[in-house]
Amino acid sequence: MRPVVPLPLRGVQQRFARRKWITPRVGQALQTSHLSSAVRSGSSPNADRKSHLGGRRLSGAAHLRNQNLGLEDVEDVRKWSTPLAKQLADAISMTGPIPLASFMRMCLTGDVGGYYTGAIQENRDQFGLKGDFVTSPEISQVFGELIGVWFVTEWLAQGRQRQGVELIEVGPGRGTLMDDMLRTIQSFPAMANSIDAIYMVEASAELRLAQKKLLCGEDAPMTESKVGYHSICKYTSLPIVWTETIKSIPISPDKMPFIIAHEFFDALPIHAFELITVPASNAKENSSPSTKTTSSTLQWRELVVTPTPPGSTHDSLRTPSTQSRSTPPPDFQLTRSDQPTRHALYLPESSPRYRAIKKTVGPGALLEICPDASLYASDFAARIGGSAKHPKSKPSGAALILDYGPGDGTVPMNSLRGIRRHQRVSPFAEPGLTDLSADVDFAAIAEAAINASEGVEVHGPVEQGVFLETMGIKERADMLVNAAAAAAKSKSDGGGSEKYVEDVRKAWNRLVDRGPGGMGKVYKALAILPENDGRRRPVGFGGDVTGQ
Ligand code: SAH
Repeated sequence: MRPVVPLPLRGVQQRFARRKWITPRVGQALQTSHLSSAVRSGSSPNADRKSHLGGRRLSGAAHLRNQNLGLEDVEDVRKWSTPLAKQLADAISMTGPIPLASFMRMCLTGDVGGYYTGAIQENRDQFGLKGDFVTSPEISQVFGELIGVWFVTEWLAQGRQRQGVELIEVGPGRGTLMDDMLRTIQSFPAMANSIDAIYMVEASAELRLAQKKLLCGEDAPMTESKVGYHSICKYTSLPIVWTETIKSIPISPDKMPFIIAHEFFDALPIHAFELITVPASNAKENSSPSTKTTSSTLQWRELVVTPTPPGSTHDSLRTPSTQSRSTPPPDFQLTRSDQPTRHALYLPESSPRYRAIKKTVGPGALLEICPDASLYASDFAARIGGSAKHPKSKPSGAALILDYGPGDGTVPMNSLRGIRRHQRVSPFAEPGLTDLSADVDFAAIAEAAINASEGVEVHGPVEQGVFLETMGIKERADMLVNAAAAAAKSKSDGGGSEKYVEDVRKAWNRLVDRGPGGMGKVYKALAILPENDGRRRPVGFGGDVTGQ
């Protein structure tokens, strides 16, 4: 089982006045204690920790000197596994070790060969059986349809606004989820007619084109403006606007934004820290005058990325058994910085949840913090509930976040994963070709949303299996199966539709499977809604359809 960092959940909730964070009812209670071990399939905590630290932790300064020497000595001969690895190594040799967040950002969305923004070779796809991973919308159309229905239920419950509705998706992948949602919303013409525009926040130019092809058609023209790229949706003739960040989407008080984020937050860069005991003499040097002390202190140190020694092998780096050795040996590793970095001084002090870890866990505690996740959550909250900068007299809209991470409020740690062709690999192997992701800290998202806007409340997280079952996944899948069976009868195409029926069944069962490692258990749903004192629970989070 993954070591859990106890969280003062009650303390956090108490700070949020007026029942703003509505966690699931007893009976719907989350069963999350084995969550991460499930994700990591059988890894022991120690093996996992090594996976991060490459099995070696040299003291910072000495280590960095060694690394620099290594770089200088072999600059001409060392073969980096990808062009991006060389670029990262060059940058590190100039500036020193880089935060894990900078490494992740370059690897995933960097201009030179980022995983989403350029490394994918021709005809290679991140998604699907031939790619690196499969996501829920790609497994079954029912997933996107039910999410579409969820937004319809929110639109009904919030008084059927007749115009100003916006659909916003962050990290839309191939566009499959938005396609299934839009097709579904078309069956509710009153809501479909209330939509003004669709926004897609996408960092990848290739995926933006794939989304446009699916949602607008191959031949539909795409134009560029200061905001982003524009085309017209094939279903509704509505404008679709692509932006690279959510900040480029205008905020207006009369809009009702419906925001969906599926497997987006796990791709946002994290900072990682370790708590260490600093002896009195060092503690004095490293702390501000006001905190100088004669006894040893606990201080956070950032885990930073440095090149592995030249000539490293999987054996010398002790690549853990939980990671495939099918990649070349990792080019980089995590090392603990021996000085407090700017991020180490600020981020672990930024929430009572993190501060409590000093007392509850003590030396050796690990911690991951994702500032970008908080920025996105704050932005969603401001759009829905208004903020000092963007006041909104009547909060409206909803954000639905589906991803994997602890559902019990524990702070993620040691959760960075590398994925290549459906296998776990070292996150530091073949930068730009390896997908990177980390557990999502749902409690941090809730905290950021509530702090950002007086006008929102947060529901969940609930397990995906619970969410989809209460949304009626079984009933919807049965409808598809019956329709296929009826079609088979009329066309007497026997075998083909039997297989289809079997595929539909398998797919929806996979989405709700709550066995160890099952998607229904590992994935969670969290909703940000207009503040209503917790009186109305959304469908899927313990509430019923209202406002019909
Ligand atoms: N939601 C989709 C795709 C998930 S993969 C699905 O479930 O199938 C992550 C998606 O987020 C990709 O589309 C990727 O290009 C995009 N993405 C990752 N980091 C991003 C960032 N920082 N800004 C914008 N888009 C990002």
